[in-house]
Amino acid sequence: MPVDGTGAYDPQNVFARILRGELPCRKVYEDEYALAFHDIAPKAPIHVLVIPKGAYISFADFSAQASEAEIAGFIRAVGKVARDLGLEAPGYRLVSNTGIEGGQEVPHFHVHLFGGRPLGAMLPG
Ligand code: 5GP
Repeated sequence: MPVDGTGAYDPQNVFARILRGELPCRKVYEDEYALAFHDIAPKAPIHVLVIPKGAYISFADFSAQASEAEIAGFIRAVGKVARDLGLEAPGYRLVSNTGIEGGQEVPHFHVHLFGGRPLGAMLPG
């Protein structure tokens, strides 16, 4: 069920619980600014989620409210994860679903990192 990306942050969302260690994840990378882990329902041979450690609902929220250090740290973490997974040469795709029409389901900002096969058309239909 898509969520509104503009309301108050829900500290009980599933990614907040993963960040607090209350739920498990298959961790790929972690630093001061970001955590990366495998998606529970992968849509490609490599499907990793990268999330900031701060409490931001969506890309809209993160891009407007996060500090320069958080934004730079997060973007560098996404690039590092892709590089470390060997995806730079073959290429990969980043997606961040935002809000209702974007199809966002978890209200903690995240970037999907897809790779491991030719990814085809950007959007279905
Ligand atoms: P969204 O639609 O919000 O962009 O994507 C949310 C993603 O989170 C989905 O791809 C979904 O499979 C993934 N997801 C939902 N719950 C969990 C979970 O508990 N663990 C992991 N690893 N991924 C989850």
